[in-house]
Amino acid sequence: MTEPAQVLIVGAGPVGLTTAWALTRVGVTVRIVDAAETIDRRMRASMVHPPTLDMLDELGITASLVQLGRKVGRWQIRQHESNRHVTFDLDAIADATEHPFRLQVEQRELGRLLIDALAEHGVHIEFRTRVESLRQDSELVTLRTSTGNSLQSFWVVGADGTQSAVREASQIKFERDTNAHGTILVATNFPFHEHLQDLSDVSYCWSNRGPFALLRLKNYWRVSLHADVDELDATADESNIRDLLGYIHPDARDAKIIGIAPWVLRERCVRRFRVGRVLLAGNAAHVNPPSGGMGMNAGIHDAVNLASKLAEVLNGGDDDLLFRYDRQRRHAIANRVLPMALANRARMAVKDMGTHERRLSRYRAIASDPEKCRQFLLASSMITALDESEAIE
Ligand SMILES: Cc1cc2nc3c(=O)[nH]c(=O)nc-3n(C[C@H](O)[C@H](O)[C@H](O)COP(=O)(O)OP(=O)(O)OC[C@H]3O[C@@H](n4cnc5c(N)ncnc54)[C@H](O)[C@@H]3O)c2cc1C
Repeated sequence: MTEPAQVLIVGAGPVGLTTAWALTRVGVTVRIVDAAETIDRRMRASMVHPPTLDMLDELGITASLVQLGRKVGRWQIRQHESNRHVTFDLDAIADATEHPFRLQVEQRELGRLLIDALAEHGVHIEFRTRVESLRQDSELVTLRTSTGNSLQSFWVVGADGTQSAVREASQIKFERDTNAHGTILVATNFPFHEHLQDLSDVSYCWSNRGPFALLRLKNYWRVSLHADVDELDATADESNIRDLLGYIHPDARDAKIIGIAPWVLRERCVRRFRVGRVLLAGNAAHVNPPSGGMGMNAGIHDAVNLASKLAEVLNGGDDDLLFRYDRQRRHAIANRVLPMALANRARMAVKDMGTHERRLSRYRAIASDPEKCRQFLLASSMITALDESEAIE
């Protein structure tokens, strides 16, 4: 068996890779293993919020990421049939972030940049390495992989996604694990901005046929649709998707479809982010529906918080600091991220026109009151959650 790593990271999704890079930059030796052949190239997250861009900037990543995506300074809530809308301008929080915009970019691009950064420092992802079991004592954690190898390290970060083997092996339970939500992402080159009046590049739309979000990336649009979990495959059928696109705009029905990705996401958070020398981060610890685009962002907030504390502990700091990680991140997820994602989802699902109008009036009142607007944007940009958790000892 080789020398134990200081930190072994299981999972090379955006959260594991950010943790690995944040630690590598400050001289911690990491090993990172992943069960897959390569990073996940499917359509998943596209929205990166301002504080996440601030954090990735500290890690030297944001400038390159911005080149690959689209900066969106204004976003909208719309009633589709009436074209009535309210627009929010992130300039209102320019004093709270270096990046007062949302970046629309494919999750895999972030993964690619982080892998390149790690490779430049001689850290290479050990793909095709599935962790199957784990045991720990007061000194070390030992993991057994699908290839029959034993890996040892002083600390383990389980960033191995929703089915986390690290979480299971550590017997960490969920605080809540309730509903499953269906979402379908459709990528198309149809130029919605040329056809829908005053459309923002991020627009959450109510319609009589159900909600959809229109999200513009660098060279194409994504449409994000709600779907019943039981009818996910039928809803994701191309002819049905074309029908829905045609409802958004008749000319979109025959547009080129670049991809269709159906997903089921749960709503849950673990009871503990730490057990002994094992720590959880990202989807291994928490999942929420994608409304508001917060899952990956929250996972990156975990990663950056955890990496700084792990580095301090490895430099002789008290390892109780890692319980603070648990308290801070559980607060942010349980009190901010999950409730906001669920409220966004429920609010968009309403089909009644009268309710749409009343809600639009309420949003208009927020947008036209500078202080209310600022508070609303601080919360929806995830800054309030970070400020609150920073205050937790
Ligand atoms: C439709 C949709 C839209 C979304 N939109 C947004 C958005 O706009 N903004 C946002 O912030 N979030 C969004 N999300 C959420 C985001 O995609 C996830 O939160 C994010 O991928 C979580 O990253 P992660 O690194 O924790 O886990 P993952 O990305 O799932 O990575 C886990 C990694 O662990 C590996 N692994 C699994 N098991 C093992 C094992 N036993 N051993 C070794 N390796 C293992 C996997 O191969 C994988 O590479 C969206 C999600 C969906 C489905």
